Amino acid sequence: MLVLLDRDGVLNEERGDFVKNPGELVMIEGSAKAVADLNGAGHRVVLITNQSVVGRGIIPQDMLDRIHDALRTELAKEGGHLDEIYACTDPPWAATDRRKPGAGMLREAMSQFRSVADETPMIGDSLRDLQAAASAGCRRILVRTGNGAATQADGLAPDILPVAVYENLRGAVDMLLGNDP
Ligand SMILES: [Mg+2]
Repeated sequence: MLVLLDRDGVLNEERGDFVKNPGELVMIEGSAKAVADLNGAGHRVVLITNQSVVGRGIIPQDMLDRIHDALRTELAKEGGHLDEIYACTDPPWAATDRRKPGAGMLREAMSQFRSVADETPMIGDSLRDLQAAASAGCRRILVRTGNGAATQADGLAPDILPVAVYENLRGAVDMLLGNDP
């Protein structure tokens, strides 16, 4: 199975003002181990992240690369890895279909890994993750970390349903791996 993951609010803590350097990357408890468990079960894990922090001119691309090196290091501490990272640096005022809620990156990942949309879950904490997943035909999973609790409280529109909701990535992964209590 191909599993698509949003970054901020799913793997690492959401900051209101963007992760701008490796020191601002704070992992959410249990997320790295959850990725490792997906890897260990033979699944592909791919990051699908909007990073307008580059397109807005706040940090350069090479800083984003360093942040992702740090993310890979944090995952490796638990034996986990990402099979690919898709990052869209478009600013919102010049967004292409790659920027979520566009489905571009999800479609690229499914093409790369030859995965069928309705067998491909997208796990995110924001409405635009769910919208992108619905647009691509992927399964929608909301985690309540990051913006997730607020996303749920705001109400989920009929056009993105069904949405499975879990407390965190650990809970979502347990469901995907059939470890649900
Ligand atoms: Mg997010």
